[in-house]
Amino acid sequence: MLKILVCVKQVPDVDQMRMDPATGNLIRAGVPAILNPLDANALSAAVKVKETYGGEITLITMGPPAAEAVLRECLAVGADKAILVTDRAFGNADTLATSYSIVSAANTQDKYDLIFCGKETLDGATGQMGSQLAERFNAAQVTSASLIKEIDLEKGKLIVERELETGIETLEVSMPCLFTMEKTNYPVRIPSLKGKLAAKKAPVVTITSQDIPGLDKQRIGDPGSPTKVPRMFPPVMPEPGVILDEGGLDATVSKLLELIKE
Ligand SMILES: Cc1cc2nc3c(=O)[nH]c(=O)nc-3n(C[C@H](O)[C@H](O)[C@H](O)COP(=O)(O)OP(=O)(O)OC[C@H]3O[C@@H](n4cnc5c(N)ncnc54)[C@H](O)[C@@H]3O)c2cc1C
Repeated sequence: MLKILVCVKQVPDVDQMRMDPATGNLIRAGVPAILNPLDANALSAAVKVKETYGGEITLITMGPPAAEAVLRECLAVGADKAILVTDRAFGNADTLATSYSIVSAANTQDKYDLIFCGKETLDGATGQMGSQLAERFNAAQVTSASLIKEIDLEKGKLIVERELETGIETLEVSMPCLFTMEKTNYPVRIPSLKGKLAAKKAPVVTITSQDIPGLDKQRIGDPGSPTKVPRMFPPVMPEPGVILDEGGLDATVSKLLELIKE
């Protein structure tokens, strides 16, 4: 049976977030938390694979206890079970510590053939997690994957398309494999009433730092995070440009020369 892991993150709805210009801190109060949009597309891709080839979908998220809400939301559209990685010791983690914590937690539960991530998040938006997770899972990786075309379960191989600026690239990859997903071919699924009811009862395993045998405490949270953020500030917006139109080419060029001389 295909074992599928989908990595999802609860993010603040950044459209509604503002920065305090005095402190440089983000004002999170009153900002709703949502499922990272591209993770919803990654989940759709995983559900499509499960519908076509069978399998079991496990979700994983690292975040505060409230992140269970996004797990329940994802369970309602076809995932089978979920892992919530939560502990104050995991807080203040940069991407390096986050990927170490997520993989350490996931490995306590199972081994996975396919791992789906979004291409990037709405808030951190580093796009680093996919590659780091693939490395730590010792899995092949396909970034910007747009279509899982075919899976040969016997050979453990897949044909996958990825979106490049110059066109579509087709790859053959072996399992285990991690994808960071584009949204192109996998629209977000809407949960049915039956799905919502099932999600309420679906198992969510909570994993703290105490539950992971051999976890190196120096590699999680603040001690495990070499990235420091000394300051955050809104970008200085450039002054708007001027569009010259003096009613004709010669007149406009003359005006331009005049302005340059000035
Ligand atoms: C110094 C520092 C301190 C930080 N402290 C905190 C903190 O205290 N609390 C906090 O929430 N963040 C904190 N962050 C941000 C945190 O490091 C990032 O949220 C996290 O590493 C993911 O990076 P990203 O959002 O850029 O993900 P990307 O690389 O853009 O995400 C790609 C994909 O990876 C998967 N993914 C990403 N994050 C998670 C996750 N948490 N669980 C499951 N799957 C995931 C999703 O599928 C996502 O679509 C801190 C960052 C720094 C640099």
